[in-house]
Amino acid sequence: MWLLHFNYAVIMAININAYQVIKNELGLKNVTLVAVSKTKPVDDIMELYHLGQRDFGENYVQELVEKAEILPNDINWHFIGHLQTNKVKLIAPFVQLIHGVDSLKLLKEINKQAEKSNRVIDCLLQMHIAQEDTKFGFDMHELIETIKQSEELNLKNVRISGLMGMASFTTDMAKVKSEFQLLNSMFDKLGNLKILSMGMSSDYKIAIEVGSNMVRIGSLLFGVRETKKNS
Ligand SMILES: *Cc1c(COP(=O)(O)O)cnc(C)c1O
Repeated sequence: MWLLHFNYAVIMAININAYQVIKNELGLKNVTLVAVSKTKPVDDIMELYHLGQRDFGENYVQELVEKAEILPNDINWHFIGHLQTNKVKLIAPFVQLIHGVDSLKLLKEINKQAEKSNRVIDCLLQMHIAQEDTKFGFDMHELIETIKQSEELNLKNVRISGLMGMASFTTDMAKVKSEFQLLNSMFDKLGNLKILSMGMSSDYKIAIEVGSNMVRIGSLLFGVRETKKNS
């Protein structure tokens, strides 16, 4: 019994050692760490918070809203999931950065809701770089079109500040690397963007090697997640 209990406690705790190692690694290269806390309890978030972490990422609107309500105000909340237009209004008053913008319609809605909150919201356009049809995002042509259209619409309450992408879910790291390189080349081609959000627990080292300046890391810090059924 005691042993079981002990194991349970170990599994639930955040990995402080991994956090320090990753922070050092990223600090040397000026890469921002977004700690992905989806499905994890607020106590775990507070543990990292007390170590100085301020950027946290969430995938589910309802969960993000509930956590933001009870956690400290100086947390920078990143929305990294697939955002539905009808839920934008719930996070627009406080969200710091929306990573997965994948349509002009969504960008327009973010602009509208940001205006109501008297804010300018930073957004990343999500690029489809993986050779899987399950991942959302633009191709190069759509990306350029969307940026052009948003300029024509003169959306004053959103700022396209970078790109985000997810590599294929595979152990083939050469493939992952080439997908990240593709994203980095688009980032370079556009020239005037600040943030390149790519890299997760399994591939962040490769992502940094090929130019990422923002990584989204969950399980290495918080332990493995149980799968979530609804959003
Ligand atoms: C869950 C998630 C992450 C973090 O994944 P880990 O493998 O746990 O590091 C990063 N980015 C997105 C978009 C996610 O949904």
